[in-house]
Amino acid sequence: MSEQSAAPEPVVDNFELPGVPDAFQRLWTPHRLAYVKGGQEKVTGSHNCPFCEAPERSDEQSLIVHRGKLGFVVLNLFPYNPGHLLVCPYRHVPDYTDLTVAETAEFAAMSQQAMRVLRSVSSPSGFNLGMNQGVTGGAGIAAHLHQHIVPRWGGDGNFLPIIAGTKAITQTLADTREQVAAAWNTVD
Ligand SMILES: [Zn+2]
Repeated sequence: MSEQSAAPEPVVDNFELPGVPDAFQRLWTPHRLAYVKGGQEKVTGSHNCPFCEAPERSDEQSLIVHRGKLGFVVLNLFPYNPGHLLVCPYRHVPDYTDLTVAETAEFAAMSQQAMRVLRSVSSPSGFNLGMNQGVTGGAGIAAHLHQHIVPRWGGDGNFLPIIAGTKAITQTLADTREQVAAAWNTVD
């Protein structure tokens, strides 16, 4: 889409905010975020946290697929696989144990719905779900809790060594966002 590619300065030179809709070629690094170097040290509080800033922009700008009451779901700007989602609370808290009972319930419900929606739009044969806790745990942005929902297809990792560790993400993030967001309220 022209307005996407004509976007001037990407809002994001660093991490999980949108702004680089054509960044499809990602390094396949399942255990750490490809952009960990650019993100972690820059987040010093909620004022410069991409997960706090994302909800303040439009869904299209931030690649948000669903806004809940206490949290939201956003596409990872640098996905491991197409449809890689991040479930986050609105509150700037680092640890899973920081969530209130209500936040935990919605966080879990959104994670489940994310799986249902991805099954419906792209039929993955499996998923990786998880939270990296703390810098040592591999969190790209440790200061703001986020759960990865990564759809998997048979063989999606096997051919990567052959092409020198590079993974092609063929569907544009804008298209993926639209599909997932549209399915969010219809799939059950
Ligand atoms: Zn935050």
